[in-house]
Amino acid sequence: MMFDNDTSTEYNELHQQLMDSTIMMVDDEQINMEIIQIHLEESGYHNFILTDKSAEAMSIMEKELPDVLLLDLQMPGVSGFDILEAKRADERLRHIPVIILTSSTEAETKLKALELGATDFLSKPVDASELALRLRNTLTVKAYQDQLAYYDASTGLPNRSLFQDRLGWAIKQAERDDSAVAVMHIGIGQFKEINDTFGPKVGDALLKEITQRLKGQLRDSDVVTQQHKNTQSSIAARVGTSEFTVLLPAIGDVENAATVARRILAEMGKVFNFEGNELVIPSSIGIAAYPDDGNADTLLAKAASATSYAKKQGRNKYQFYSKEINEKSSKRLKLEGYLRKAIDNDELVLYYQPKIDTKTGHVTGMEALIRWISPELGFISPADFIPLAEETGLIVPIGEWVLHEACRQTQAWKLQGLTDLTISVNFSSEQFRGQDIARVVQDAIESSGLDPRCLVLEITESMIMGDPEKNASTLSRLKELKTSISIDDFGTGYSSLSYLKKFPLDELKIDRSFVMDLDTDDDDKAIVTAVIAMAHSLGLKTVAEGVENEAQLAFLKNLKCDQIQGFFYSKPLPKEEFPAFVLQKNSL
Ligand code: C2E
Ligand code: MG
Ligand code: MG
Repeated sequence: MMFDNDTSTEYNELHQQLMDSTIMMVDDEQINMEIIQIHLEESGYHNFILTDKSAEAMSIMEKELPDVLLLDLQMPGVSGFDILEAKRADERLRHIPVIILTSSTEAETKLKALELGATDFLSKPVDASELALRLRNTLTVKAYQDQLAYYDASTGLPNRSLFQDRLGWAIKQAERDDSAVAVMHIGIGQFKEINDTFGPKVGDALLKEITQRLKGQLRDSDVVTQQHKNTQSSIAARVGTSEFTVLLPAIGDVENAATVARRILAEMGKVFNFEGNELVIPSSIGIAAYPDDGNADTLLAKAASATSYAKKQGRNKYQFYSKEINEKSSKRLKLEGYLRKAIDNDELVLYYQPKIDTKTGHVTGMEALIRWISPELGFISPADFIPLAEETGLIVPIGEWVLHEACRQTQAWKLQGLTDLTISVNFSSEQFRGQDIARVVQDAIESSGLDPRCLVLEITESMIMGDPEKNASTLSRLKELKTSISIDDFGTGYSSLSYLKKFPLDELKIDRSFVMDLDTDDDDKAIVTAVIAMAHSLGLKTVAEGVENEAQLAFLKNLKCDQIQGFFYSKPLPKEEFPAFVLQKNSL
């Protein structure tokens, strides 16, 4: 939140912020809290945390960091006084204001609570309008204090202490998830000179413009959210006169930070225009990461030292603190460069892995699997470049090419007499998010002339989790085109029955990891049995991936698994070899 000069927007922003406050209540009588909540909802508040278990109050507070606490004093076990005392001893919670709600009228009780850090008092039974007034005052004071303590006045960005605090939390989260956190330090060159030459008005405008550009480059997709609703998004902060920082929490590979760094440098490298003055400002970025380079206390300093190193190498450069990551990052950059030209240079090809019907033993379809045959690097498997393509957005044109090529090839085979084959095509979540995917699919169908009922789109569980409503509507549109939808790698994600039912699906592919040890592992046997039964009861076809031997096949056949895909029958085949395989199998 930023309090600017326009008082009415200032008021509206403040009002909105107050209404969004999280109000925590602790009272051993649930009904008291519910009545208060109803009153406060009438005033427009909507975030409440209620607990009647005073013993849990501290841990809830630690987790939720409410903006204000409404506290009962007389509670069995842990009393309101105990909570006040524990809260006062906690660095992070000390500043949360507390309004005491008590039926006691004794001055001594009130005095003791005040000493322990209570902010205000109200007598029970609580007068609703009185409470609304006191609450508003308390929250307003807190908002202004926070603004002064945690935000930079010129840019409205979080300041160093808030950044440090968020970093601490991101690291705690990363410890739990086994993920990484990157801290980016951005040094803006010549700020002092510009300020001296053009005056502080231009200096201020420059800072605001830098802030806008920086914020514009932070996307939530840079953060590999791990389905934790409380995973933070990336934030920018101002930590010095001409120093900014960016926090990338829960990042997958630390090298990914390079993508963001390059985006920021490109943006900062554009001309700044102030009252007729065209300025080009050099900037440099240093990146340090948890756990590779250190912890919350040292990361910022290490990122800053990487910045000074980057500065020495010239304008608009970035540098990782760690040597190894620098090396990985430049390898990646090279790979990305090669991949960019791979589509245009026809270096991508599709292989086709047969899918066999368990009842007839015939090939009824195939999965298109991409391969990259690079003149510089040789044969590269998708596991090594699909993730890179996803991070860089290259998956969008690549995926489009795959879809077109797979449809074209299937139709060509059809005309050669290989009828009744379905073609399965893999989709990445990036394609789902960034593009009008139904449009792309329709294009591929129309330009190839393929019967859309022969096209199966493979998506993964995580792909439809994000925004279930939007995704359900995208899937419905794909269904209207008459294509089928398959869930790939089933079992590796957040497989829940309730969401399977919500989406218009046709097929479930059981992940190879469950099939692999099917002949020996009782757990896998139980899982696969249950998954197939469940899928069939939902009217979904089942496909087992990665079937390599007779024992696995027999087990799956017994469960009436519909289709088999795996090395037992065939590896993915180049398009030249595929027709012969089908003819041989299907004539038996
Ligand atoms: P996937 O979609 O689950 O594809 C199945 C993978 O399992 C393929 O690996 C296939 O070669 C392998 N496989 C099949 N049967 C067996 C078996 O019996 N034993 C063993 N050990 N492996 C088997 P591949 O071709 O390396 O592809 C890996 C992943 O790359 C695919 O997994 C898919 O997620 C992705 N991918 C491939 N092509 C594309 C594409 O065109 N677009 C997108 N977005 N992703 C693709
Ligand atoms: Mg697949
Ligand atoms: Mg799979």
